[in-house]
Amino acid sequence: MSVRVYRSGGIVVEAGGKRLLLDPTGIPDRKPDVVFVSHAHSDHCRPSVLRALKGVPKVMSHATRDLVDPRRRLDSVVAVNAGEEVEVAGLQLEVHEAGHVIGSLQLRFDAGATVVYTGDFNLERRVVMRPAPVLKADVLVIDATYGHHRYTFPPRPLLYKAIVQTVREAVEEGRGLALAARTLGTGQELTALLSLVAKVVPFVEEKIAEKNRIYEKYGEVLGEYAVHSLRPPRGAIAVVPLSSDHPGAVPCTGWAVGRGIPLSSHAGFSDLLRYVVESGVATIYAFSSFASSFASYISREMGIEAYAL
Ligand SMILES: [Zn+2]
Repeated sequence: MSVRVYRSGGIVVEAGGKRLLLDPTGIPDRKPDVVFVSHAHSDHCRPSVLRALKGVPKVMSHATRDLVDPRRRLDSVVAVNAGEEVEVAGLQLEVHEAGHVIGSLQLRFDAGATVVYTGDFNLERRVVMRPAPVLKADVLVIDATYGHHRYTFPPRPLLYKAIVQTVREAVEEGRGLALAARTLGTGQELTALLSLVAKVVPFVEEKIAEKNRIYEKYGEVLGEYAVHSLRPPRGAIAVVPLSSDHPGAVPCTGWAVGRGIPLSSHAGFSDLLRYVVESGVATIYAFSSFASSFASYISREMGIEAYAL
């Protein structure tokens, strides 16, 4: 059974006479049978595009729906929970945890060959959410945001230890500390880590706190935190958005390897390789930042057919 994977508005998978559109941020050339939204980050989902795809079933988790369509303006939404299997437009779709941000899902379906789309994912045990399982696949469409060996991150326990120690030193010295994180993702992980593990009550910027409430709605325990709008009070332990210009804020992102704390909601390079090996895959399509170098590495070093999207 042939499976075609290409880009048009998002990632398109054609198999078994059906056309799936994954994480659209633009209008595709041809109308899909199903749209799948893996999670609510803006590089995976654009509400205006989803509105334009009228009448097409749009599969997403309940939490993703709350984040991208809080006023329920989208039509044909099929809201699902991780672990469920649903039939949509004649396709049996399985959705699984992706461990990336609240509501993030992986997709698996069978069209003669088993196709898996990871979306953005994380395999590690963290203070928030459950990790992504590795899914068996014939064809794997995988996130390669950190698909370069430079982005091999320390294990979570070591990162957590370093953050907690930095926070405790700041508290002992009576000085403030701001950790800069993504509004949806590491913002909530840091809220929980500071509150539940470092035992401080962090000041969390309002946009991050908004997302905290969605995590809490879906059962995630983040502990106690205070909310600030413009600037946290002097001397506070704070979580601010990466996009803010807070002076002296320590960046917590995978891109901060070597200059900050490489805490990411994505899988780092070694976990990407683990996924490839354990999935038993025959063909790979890599997407996002390091797609080309990751695809080259996989075909060169592992002898697996691999392409960049
Ligand atoms: Zn993401």
